[in-house]
Formats: sequence, structure tokens, C-alpha cells
Amino acid sequence: MPDISQMTLEQVEKTICACTLCPLHQGRTRAVPGEGPPNAEIMFIGEGPGFHEDRQGRPFVGAAGQFLEELLAGIGMTREQVYITNVVKCRPPGNRDPLPNELSACAPYLDRQIELIKPRVIVTLGRFSMVRYFPGASITKIHGQPKRVGNMLVVPLFHPAAALHQPKWRPIVEADFQKLPGFIAEAASFRDEALPPQAQQLSLF
Ligand code: URA
Repeated sequence: MPDISQMTLEQVEKTICACTLCPLHQGRTRAVPGEGPPNAEIMFIGEGPGFHEDRQGRPFVGAAGQFLEELLAGIGMTREQVYITNVVKCRPPGNRDPLPNELSACAPYLDRQIELIKPRVIVTLGRFSMVRYFPGASITKIHGQPKRVGNMLVVPLFHPAAALHQPKWRPIVEADFQKLPGFIAEAASFRDEALPPQAQQLSLF
């Protein structure tokens, strides 16, 4: 494992593209490190690249990605404003679930991405990103309910692909999405708590 603890976001992304730490690299067309502004306020973490993502080297470019873009439009945002990545950066064969060794090999990349981007809000999409922050929880019980982790709010959401397959979940995902701007505002106040009073005043303007 290269020492990624001092790397920039761009260096981490390049390292991921050349990574051979787990067997998933053997079947990939392209690795999918993630994309978005390095100072994004909100970060979406999905499961892993699918067919189209593997071809293009970009996250959420298939049907689930189109739905994600619609959901973002519903809160006045575009995908260019958010950072989008996955717990595993290479496509599991046939879109199977990622295996424990694949998840653990890839985890340091995601940890470093979070450390560098410092999002205000992390949105987990699907089980494998949810379990990082809510081990043992059930998405049907906790969806849309944020948890504070350091200075961030982590919000577990249904995976957009699940909502595409199960139409009954679609309005739930849409309603959960509507809460995100409020969570971003709420998490901004955590940052201010950590600032000295003079800086807190300045941050009001
Ligand atoms: N589903 C995911 O979880 N991630 C992607 O990048 C695409 C689809």
C-alpha cells in the first residue's frame, strides 16, 4: 500500500487508477475514484461502479446516476457541486456485492478522500456505505435520519437503484433528499462552534 496519508486528492485519485491491492483490479476496464469539487459541502458514497461506470471511469453515470441527478435537481443542485464516490473503486464482476477483503483494501482511499474534502454532509447510498457509520442498522428504520460524526452529519439514504427497482421507495427517497439542504446548514454551525469568536462573527458575512 503506498502511503496515501500525505497525498492530495488528485494524487489519491491517480493512485486508485493504478491500484492492484485487491482482485477487482483484474476485471476492471477503468477504476472509478470519484469526482467533484475538492471542497464539496456534500459527499455521496455509493457501493461500487457498475457496467457504465467501469467503461467511463466515472461514478453514477448509468440509470441510478440519472436518478441521482434528478434528485439533486429537486434541491436546486447539480452533480458538479457535489463529490460522488463509492466504497469500492473497481467494478465487482456482474455487479455482485463487494467482498470484505475488497472493502478493506479500498477503505483507506475513501478515508483519505473524506479527510481531504471535509464535507459538511456525507450521504450514504446503500448498505455498504451505511455500515461504515451505522453498523447493524436497517435502512428501512433509519433512512433520512442524520447522525453527527465529528463536524459532519452522516445521512443514510436508500440507494437510488433500489428506488428505481421498488417504486414504493421513490417518494421516500425524494422526501429524504428534500431534507439535505437543512442538514448542510445545520452542519455549517458545527464548524462555527470550533472557530474562535472573532472568526464566528466573520463567518456570518
Ligand atoms: N451504483 C453505485 O453504487 N455506484 C455507482 O457508481 C453507480 C451505481
